[in-house]
Amino acid sequence: MRAELDEKEEFPWAIMKDLGDSDLFRVFIPEEYEGLGGGCLDLCLVVEGLSRVCAAIAVSYAAVALGVAPLLRYGTEEQKQKYLPDVASGKRLAAFALTEATAGSDAAAIKTTAERVKEGYVINGTKQFITNGGEAEIYTVIALTDKEKGARGASALLVEKDTPGFSFGKTEKKMGIRASSTRELIFRNCLVPEENLIGKEGMGFIITMKLFDQSRPGIGAQAVGIAQGALEAAVDYARQRVQFGHPIISLQAVQHMLADMAIQVEAARALVYAAARTVDSGAKNIGEESAMAKVFASDVAMKVTTDAVQIFGGYGYMRDYPIEKMMRDAKITQIYEGTNQVLRNAIALGLRKRRGIQE
Ligand SMILES: Cc1cc2nc3c(=O)[nH]c(=O)nc-3n(C[C@H](O)[C@H](O)[C@H](O)COP(=O)(O)OP(=O)(O)OC[C@H]3O[C@@H](n4cnc5c(N)ncnc54)[C@H](O)[C@@H]3O)c2cc1C
Repeated sequence: MRAELDEKEEFPWAIMKDLGDSDLFRVFIPEEYEGLGGGCLDLCLVVEGLSRVCAAIAVSYAAVALGVAPLLRYGTEEQKQKYLPDVASGKRLAAFALTEATAGSDAAAIKTTAERVKEGYVINGTKQFITNGGEAEIYTVIALTDKEKGARGASALLVEKDTPGFSFGKTEKKMGIRASSTRELIFRNCLVPEENLIGKEGMGFIITMKLFDQSRPGIGAQAVGIAQGALEAAVDYARQRVQFGHPIISLQAVQHMLADMAIQVEAARALVYAAARTVDSGAKNIGEESAMAKVFASDVAMKVTTDAVQIFGGYGYMRDYPIEKMMRDAKITQIYEGTNQVLRNAIALGLRKRRGIQE
């Protein structure tokens, strides 16, 4: 099934419905809005479990949590009542839209505007690489309400799928997580009412930065799940693949590779869970720990899946086996929600600051 979805690059609607029927979207929604009131660690456990089998499904699920997280933390009671119960039941999916063609790591370079008018805000611009684009019904969009103020002039707005002036552009053809949707969002004089503003004008980047600090353990969990799935597949394969008259798992070279893979997966899991617990504790300065968990776990996922392909030998390179997909899927965890280079910059900046070293 996962191979078929990957091959066809088909959004996993039937599975998303199953996730809804299994109450998994309720995990990250508070009880007062028909959720189960779970925290970051609960969400990580679900994402890890889904990623162990199919990272494309896991990211389609996790992107819903990302899409409504600003609403959960900064939304008004009316906004929460209006949107969250439908998300909890899985009836409506959500997405978060920040990235643009010329604003990736440099998110402050966004050009999409939300001009204040009497009736609300008029949005103009194009977002790209948006997970769940075209499939989600609720979008949190970061746009400039004051172009002069740059990053301080950005705001977060809720946009519903059928709003006039809101359409979808290119669907990306990807290396991995191919069953997930990654699409352009196009806004042409798209009017949203004033009550769709999340938080206050000018809070867009504060909301985004805090959001990513809290969501990065989730990317770490995705990476841990992918790596765990690859490790299990490699052990199973090594037990049944016979060369020179013995299963290859009897070779010490293979055993040591598997042992190193297991050590790395456990270390990554420990760091991700620790970061998720820190998020759940309500601690304020979580940025570095959360970035460390994402960077470490995603590098582990890349290494472990690559080694797993090696254990499969030539068969690992073939699409008949699930392992090449895991390697392709692992790569994205090093890229989105802050590339590992950009996050290493942030971790190093924290180190320098604590030692009192000025720029
Ligand atoms: C499949 C997929 C799904 C995505 N989903 C979403 C989504 O749902 N919502 C959303 O808003 N965005 C989404 N994104 C966007 C994603 O977050 C960005 O792609 C990512 O932040 C990197 O930006 P970029 O691709 O423009 O790369 P660039 O910023 O152009 O980076 C290119 C290279 O330069 C390096 N680099 C850049 N700046 C620095 C620096 N200061 N120091 C060191 N190295 C640097 C990077 O590490 C990278 O290696 C998605 C992307 C993909 C591929």
